[in-house]
Amino acid sequence: DGESAMQHNIYLFGAPGAGKGTQAQLLSEKLGIPQLSTGDMLRAARKEGSELGNRVAALMDSGQLVPDEVVIELVKQRLARPDHQAGVILDGFPRTIKQAEALDAMFAATGRAPLRVISVEVAFDEIRRRLAGRRWCARCNGTFHVTDNPPRPGNSPGCDVSSCPPAVRPDARPEAIEKRLQAYSQQTAPLMDYY
Ligand code: ADP
Repeated sequence: DGESAMQHNIYLFGAPGAGKGTQAQLLSEKLGIPQLSTGDMLRAARKEGSELGNRVAALMDSGQLVPDEVVIELVKQRLARPDHQAGVILDGFPRTIKQAEALDAMFAATGRAPLRVISVEVAFDEIRRRLAGRRWCARCNGTFHVTDNPPRPGNSPGCDVSSCPPAVRPDARPEAIEKRLQAYSQQTAPLMDYY
């Protein structure tokens, strides 16, 4: 129908650290539709100290994926919200074939417009450099880079620089970075063929 023809459902596909979150935010502002980041949702759950947050903490910090059921349920609830009916920018979901199949089923059940997939491709060595230099503020959820995007007045969304002391995300330790790249190669990269 006319409504779903105008719906923009966009999926940013790529390795961690490729810049999906940054591009998703820009697209979200430009198109006026929400960004749906499962990583942000999981970090928010941890900040609240919810049972779910506690359950996924160790997996996230070690660089492993959390169980499919957990993220599928989060996304299902989000997509049902009235402010997500004009479309959505998916960032960090789906990350496994099982998640992609569940998303297809949700789209079919609710008559959403087909997903447009954008592949963000960056060499692993550049990704290692970006992730190792990444800094993050738990308060404003701002993401920075020690040299490429240092925190300074005006570029931290919810904090001023004095109250926004970015920290190294636990999953930016070298062992965790390698685990995340491994999870991407083994579990997420096959989605290239799927789509
Ligand atoms: P990045 O893209 O930098 O790896 P994200 O914020 O997308 O970071 O995700 C952080 C962590 O949250 C992941 O390493 C994983 O543990 C968990 N996570 C996020 N999205 C998913 C998903 N779709 N499936 C499984 N785990 C996820």
